[in-house]
Amino acid sequence: MAKYKIEIDREACIGDNACCDVAPATFEMDDESIAIVTDAAGDEADTILEAAQSCPTEAIILHDVETDEKVWPEG
Ligand code: SF4
Repeated sequence: MAKYKIEIDREACIGDNACCDVAPATFEMDDESIAIVTDAAGDEADTILEAAQSCPTEAIILHDVETDEKVWPEG
């Protein structure tokens, strides 16, 4: 089961592919060169967090599925 609910802010995504490089089984670029989620449980949770942290514009927002707590971005 997925640990995170993953949202992508399409306005913020600059299409640099970083998330796909880190977690290729979770993220993919769509035909507008914006990241999409293909499988929220595609990679290990730590890898998905790392992918979100690699995003230069903090376009990837993670919530814990069980608690609905926002995990990333912090603050
Ligand atoms: S790392 Fe961020 S900016 Fe880069 S493709 Fe993924 S969501 Fe878009």
